[in-house]
Amino acid sequence: MGGHLALDFANTVDDPQGHQRYDHAGTYPELVGWSARIGILQSEQADALLAAADEHPHVRSMTVRRAHALRRILIDTFTEIAVINSDVAAGPRRLSPSMYWDELRPFVTEAVAHADLMPSDSTYQLTWPETTRLDVMLGPIGLAALDLLTSSQLSRLKKCAGCPWLFLDQSKNLSRRWCAMNDCGTHEKIRRYVTRRAAKKRA
Ligand SMILES: [Zn+2]
Repeated sequence: MGGHLALDFANTVDDPQGHQRYDHAGTYPELVGWSARIGILQSEQADALLAAADEHPHVRSMTVRRAHALRRILIDTFTEIAVINSDVAAGPRRLSPSMYWDELRPFVTEAVAHADLMPSDSTYQLTWPETTRLDVMLGPIGLAALDLLTSSQLSRLKKCAGCPWLFLDQSKNLSRRWCAMNDCGTHEKIRRYVTRRAAKKRA
């Protein structure tokens, strides 16, 4: 996957432009299910949220809209940075000063507003208390985006050569090109093999 919570959420739509498009966070139950799988919700809390959502359909649909708005901000922001990162010919990377901060800031502000500061070994970390606020999962995602934007890891951000997904390239020489070798990379290998065979036949 993306190697970072903010990117994993940005990557929740499979094949976004193709006819196999599938949104893993398309509905509220899917958003909760994804959040539980990735570990930002405990399963008991996920169950409580789903029960609360049934009683508040209006808040439920508002939460899905906000989640998709946040995802759009993450995709736009991090895709732009990945493109800047890939443009090595342009010399030292130059990020535009404001980026999408005005859009992201309300998510960060709200996340902090509802968080507790808990000791964790020798440091502290933000946690979100057990709550049935339907949008509780957007807190850690919004803060993860801020964390990535201000991290040195940002220079490892790339866009897959085979699909629109984003990932952090942790290889030593920054040589990774695919979001997941056993998915996009394999498709690409097959495509090249088929092209090579076709070229041989023509020759
Ligand atoms: Zn890919």
